[in-house]
Amino acid sequence: MAWLLGTLLASCISSWSAGPAQDTAARFVEQRQAMVSRLAAYDPAHPINDPRVLDAMRQIPRHLFVPKHLVRKAYEDAELSIGKGQTISPPFIVAYMIQTMELKAGDKVLEIGTGSGYQAAVLSRLAGEIYTIEIQPALAKRAEKTLHDLGYANVWVRHGDGYRGWPQKAPFDAIIVTCAPDHIPQPLVEQLAMGGRLLIPVGVAKTKKWATQTLVIVRKTEKGMVEERRLSVRFLPMKGEAARHPSKGR
Ligand code: SAH
Repeated sequence: MAWLLGTLLASCISSWSAGPAQDTAARFVEQRQAMVSRLAAYDPAHPINDPRVLDAMRQIPRHLFVPKHLVRKAYEDAELSIGKGQTISPPFIVAYMIQTMELKAGDKVLEIGTGSGYQAAVLSRLAGEIYTIEIQPALAKRAEKTLHDLGYANVWVRHGDGYRGWPQKAPFDAIIVTCAPDHIPQPLVEQLAMGGRLLIPVGVAKTKKWATQTLVIVRKTEKGMVEERRLSVRFLPMKGEAARHPSKGR
């Protein structure tokens, strides 16, 4: 008991002397470091070892992309609810997807499913221009504000159905999709630059909400499209045109 009181008193004194805000900021830095250290070994078959991805995730304040009541869970290895029935992907999935894209500094990237804007923020540290589309107007608005307030000036958010991509800004060096259609939308394939990569979870919803899908990477090469299956994943279904007209793509 005395030990507990002593510890409490010590922690009160230290947070009082450092200032509560500073203390909290330091705690988030620590949590972020710990999250990044866990990433490397999270799935031994798919290690996260791209230093640029790890550096970006060490710097980006993930807790500012989640609702206030979930801030203390922001650095856990889990997806979190961001409202409107949608989620922010777990850190491993964000890291794995971005590492798989093999981005270069000047690349132009399209993201379908802005959600919280967190993945777009990580992308913005590794590529040149990020265009991101979100079907839920409230989420698009909030993500745009978060990204703007934090100064991510190379990210453009649009509200709309991402099924048809963003033809005015095409071609893209990389297209990354964070909601799952049951087929690969042809318009996205068409908006790839030569050498471009499309990374997309594909699968049919077997349960009401969640499905197991396969993360597929499609590369546009001189000899045509090359498709490779990567990982079993769980994303929320793609809404809009993909859901209204299932299985009409490739
Ligand atoms: N990348 C996000 C996680 C996204 S969750 C992040 O870092 O937070 C998937 C998102 O895709 C949800 O916000 C959902 O509303 C959106 N979505 C679903 N169908 C869509 C569509 N057809 N076009 C654009 N966004 C879509």
